[in-house]
Amino acid sequence: MIDYQGTIEAIYNNLKQAPEKGIVASYIPELSKQSSDRFGIHIQHIDGRTFQIGDWNVPFSIQSISKVLALSKAIAFEDNLIWKRMDVEPSGNPFNHLSLLELENGIPRNPLINAGALVVSDILISHLKHPKEDFLNYVRNITGDDTISYNLDVAASEQRTGYRNHAAANLLKSFDNLNNDVDVVLDFYFHQCALEMNCAQLSKAFYLFANKGKCFNDKQHISSSQAKRINAIMLTCGFYDEAGEFAFEVGLPGKSGVGGGIVALLPNDFVISTWAPGLNAKGNSLLGMQALEQFTTRTNRSIF
Ligand code: GLU
Repeated sequence: MIDYQGTIEAIYNNLKQAPEKGIVASYIPELSKQSSDRFGIHIQHIDGRTFQIGDWNVPFSIQSISKVLALSKAIAFEDNLIWKRMDVEPSGNPFNHLSLLELENGIPRNPLINAGALVVSDILISHLKHPKEDFLNYVRNITGDDTISYNLDVAASEQRTGYRNHAAANLLKSFDNLNNDVDVVLDFYFHQCALEMNCAQLSKAFYLFANKGKCFNDKQHISSSQAKRINAIMLTCGFYDEAGEFAFEVGLPGKSGVGGGIVALLPNDFVISTWAPGLNAKGNSLLGMQALEQFTTRTNRSIF
């Protein structure tokens, strides 16, 4: 039997002392308020057990991690149509890269880079009656937690400074790959990214991807085949231009965000979330990546 609690305690104590903690994101001004000393780990086992250490219950901005949740809702609406509007190939480029989008005629490389996530936002807006409210309710529902909310200051902060997202949305619109107004799509996207969760809530939110599409409360939200596909996209595209490195070091499907969160999972086994706001040069949480590498190495639990 694996000693999950002992393992994460050892990793936490080891990395807490690390001299190098990375740089907190500041291109969204509101995010720069976080301290790089924050560090938490949480495991949600599929059998219901949980293990946690450090700042696991402090809410943070999940940012790009929300793209997976949005995708799971969009895929439930438009299983096949969605892949006519975006691809499933890693981009090998940063999340906000634009030139590929122009070269490839407004078809984003995948749903986890910003351009793809904007198309996913567009799909959700077209299907949901009250898009922001309905999406929030979906997230609360799969997590079984009504306290989850958007951080409106973070959304407003990105609205003011998200120049590259404004550019990407306009480019998509010029290629006819957005059906709704650019401003409406951006407003939804900035709110979605401004979802705030702690590590425990994040682990619960991603439970359905480890459990063949069934959430924590045993409700089927996506098919097991859709869960498999989303896990494949996380593995190949979940870490900006460091997805190969994450697969190599950690060996789990997962997703990171510039707020310093990472969530990763082993299907039919567990979901693990880490939060440490200091980022490496590629925009992934420095301590989070190291913690997950140590975790899969020590426990020998990965998909490979
Ligand atoms: N809202 C952020 C942006 O679009 C998300 C970036 C991220 O977490 O990768 O720039």
